[in-house]
Amino acid sequence: MSVKIKIMERQGKDLYQRLYLIEVFKGMVVTLGHFITNLLDNSKLLVRHYPEVQPEIPVRWRGRHRLTVHEDGTMKCVACFMCQTNCPAKCISIEAGERIDGRTEKMPVKFEIDLLECIYCGYCVEACPMEAIRMDTGIYSVTGSERKPFILGMGEMLATKGAFTEEEYKKGGA
Ligand code: SF4
Ligand code: SF4
Repeated sequence: MSVKIKIMERQGKDLYQRLYLIEVFKGMVVTLGHFITNLLDNSKLLVRHYPEVQPEIPVRWRGRHRLTVHEDGTMKCVACFMCQTNCPAKCISIEAGERIDGRTEKMPVKFEIDLLECIYCGYCVEACPMEAIRMDTGIYSVTGSERKPFILGMGEMLATKGAFTEEEYKKGGA
């Protein structure tokens, strides 16, 4: 079987066209023009002066996780492992134990999320039957120079409050 080959005409035949010097120069003029304009007056620059100016976090933004509690302060999580099972990154680690706060069901004695593995997909939130885990903390900047601080523990997750009211959260559909 013969293969049909389409021969394309090469663009830019003479030296002037092949060097593209004029077009390169035109591009540099545009760049230099922007540079000088912004140097003299940067008020119209479309940049955010972070960290002085913090971004507005919408309700549906998936930030760092937290664990929610009942009105009496007891943990909502019943250690059902639904979040851990559904986590595509396999970065949730739970150990279940006996409930000691008077409620029925189990509770986690260990609940950790490896934020270096997490892909912030929100499946853990979707999977939870108790609305016990949420990503509505508004915490978007998680930085560190060692691996250990990236292991988010149960205490830290319970201590973090949501950035929105319950009404805002429900309205946001997160
Ligand atoms: S956001 Fe996704 S990857 Fe991160 S812990 Fe939840 S399910 Fe796992
Ligand atoms: S956070 Fe929700 S899904 Fe995960 S173990 Fe607790 S109750 Fe189950």
